Amino acid sequence: MNEFSRKEIIDILKDDSQNEWLFSQANDLRKKYVGDEVHLRGLIEFSNICKSNCKYCGLRCENKKVERYRLSKEKIIFLAQNAVELGYKTIVLQSGEDTYFTKYILCEIINEIKNLDVALTLSIGERSFEDYKAFREAGADRYLIRIETTDKNLYTQMHPYMDFDNRIRCLKDLKNLGYEVGTGCLVGLPGQTIESLADDILFFKEIDADMIGIGPFISHPDTPLKDSENGNFTLALKVMALTRILLKNVNIPATTAMETLNPNGRIIALQSGANVVMPNVTEQEYRPKYEIYPDKVCMNEAPSHCRKCIEAKIKSIGRYVSEAYGFRY
Ligand code: SAM
Ligand code: SF4
Repeated sequence: MNEFSRKEIIDILKDDSQNEWLFSQANDLRKKYVGDEVHLRGLIEFSNICKSNCKYCGLRCENKKVERYRLSKEKIIFLAQNAVELGYKTIVLQSGEDTYFTKYILCEIINEIKNLDVALTLSIGERSFEDYKAFREAGADRYLIRIETTDKNLYTQMHPYMDFDNRIRCLKDLKNLGYEVGTGCLVGLPGQTIESLADDILFFKEIDADMIGIGPFISHPDTPLKDSENGNFTLALKVMALTRILLKNVNIPATTAMETLNPNGRIIALQSGANVVMPNVTEQEYRPKYEIYPDKVCMNEAPSHCRKCIEAKIKSIGRYVSEAYGFRY
């Protein structure tokens, strides 16, 4: 039952009558392979400046309504220190594709954060092999870069300044350099088919991804997709559950986008295969400016509040916050 064929995956995604069975299978396998602990990753959104132009994203370079910001090296390290004091064992540095942050600047930041005795994840988009190599040598442990969709035509439509083959190159380089590699997809992009979602899940397995983030697409009013419908929460949850069933011991976040579409979205996801949450540890003043999609949750909360809130939610479902670095089993 853990080795679904492409056709079986498609049938499951199309048929909602077995959803409860699917979610409980994914929950059982989550427990069996990664246990009841939940890994919290402290997310620092350090720049919303982006040279790319992804059609779905509020940070795309053609969106002139965004007030852009870029945190200093000192501020980024300060936020990382705060996160460590709050108990985080992993820091995630995320940004738009901001060329100000050269290999040299980022390596300095990585070095300093690694001195805090934490695992470090980067989520800063497409870079050269040399950059990825330098970040790895400076101490970065993990890298998140979603494939977004494995449908090459749809990928090309959605990413005017990007190339599907280069995205694949990035994922391969990262794997070869020994990173734990995170990828994932958006669910509900206009023009996306159920068949291509099945291919996305099989792709995660094929490249042996270590972490997989599945998020529903949420329409942003200042993008070309402003009139498109949001992705479907249940469908995103099903893609996530199937990913757990097929990939078993990987790390799967309960994504913020799920919570944005459903007020209890992250807890539902934790009970349907997920074992990771990425609370925001960026200061409040920057959060509204990092608007990749509207109505993002926890927009006005302080980092300490987010930590306590999610800890309480995790305990309420009989799970506990891990004290480990949270590498793949
Ligand atoms: N710039 C880096 C990159 O693209 O990999 C990291 C930051 S980017 C904002 C992180 C993720 O946000 C993307 O991988 C994308 O899937 C997600 N995202 C962007 N716009 C979104 C939207 N409208 N709805 C849901 N997720 C979105
Ligand atoms: Fe930039 Fe990432 Fe948004 Fe694309 S998804 S526009 S690369 S921040």
